Amino acid sequence: MRLDVISIFPEYLAPLDLSLIGKARRDGLLDLHVHDLRDFAHDRHRTVDDSPYGGGAGMVMKAGPWSEAIDHVVTQGASALGEPAAVPTLVVPGPGGEPFTQQIARELADEPWLAFACGRYEGIDERVYEWAGERMPVRVLSLGDYVLNGGEVAVLAMVEAVARLLPGVIGNAESLVEESHEDGLLEYPVYTKPAEWDGRAVPEVLLGGNHRAIAAWRQEQRVQRTAARRPDLLPPAAAAAGLRELEER
Ligand code: SAM
Repeated sequence: MRLDVISIFPEYLAPLDLSLIGKARRDGLLDLHVHDLRDFAHDRHRTVDDSPYGGGAGMVMKAGPWSEAIDHVVTQGASALGEPAAVPTLVVPGPGGEPFTQQIARELADEPWLAFACGRYEGIDERVYEWAGERMPVRVLSLGDYVLNGGEVAVLAMVEAVARLLPGVIGNAESLVEESHEDGLLEYPVYTKPAEWDGRAVPEVLLGGNHRAIAAWRQEQRVQRTAARRPDLLPPAAAAAGLRELEER
């Protein structure tokens, strides 16, 4: 998969050289390129923002540097891929976007090429979204209902969530199947040695080696945990039943 990230803080993306994502890059599974938006500003101060029309606090990112940077990414990427007509799916992180979920991570993991546009200040001139939408698929995605200073942290999270779904990135592909949000439930609690720690014992069922009983216990834990922490993920009847069971304990 090819990934391009445009930011005014390219150094912010340095963690993508670490751990499993860094290894995936070195193994050639991920071809990641980070671009400095300021390279596409033409004044002495490399300005990429200006005051908002209509007044108000803060600055807005100018359309010109963004369209040039995106054009550059498209030209460079299409040539590297050897497909002159190829375009990336452009992901623009923003608190006003569609919530980024495991389902969306899966959809993005199916794409051969993603480009990320990291906003700063009060965001990017709205016309850039229209302009880009006429040239490539554009997805505005939110990491959650809170406001970050810039899109870089959101891109780190999104790239990690997407990349770990690519074949070969995670050593044990089975671990992906059992995880929270894969089938709508949260994961069951996990334990490791010692069997007793701080006076707290690992649940007996996990020590017995009865795989059927372990699977049943884990499934029950998943439903209860989801009902307690994220009832919004369950159908209403299942959420109510899970909570009733918790209350009865
Ligand atoms: N004025 C914008 C608003 O109220 O929607 C917020 C701008 S925020 C200070 C600057 C940048 O941070 C955004 O352009 C976006 O790239 C990023 N950002 C902030 N919160 C985010 C979130 N919850 N998810 C994804 N990106 C976010």
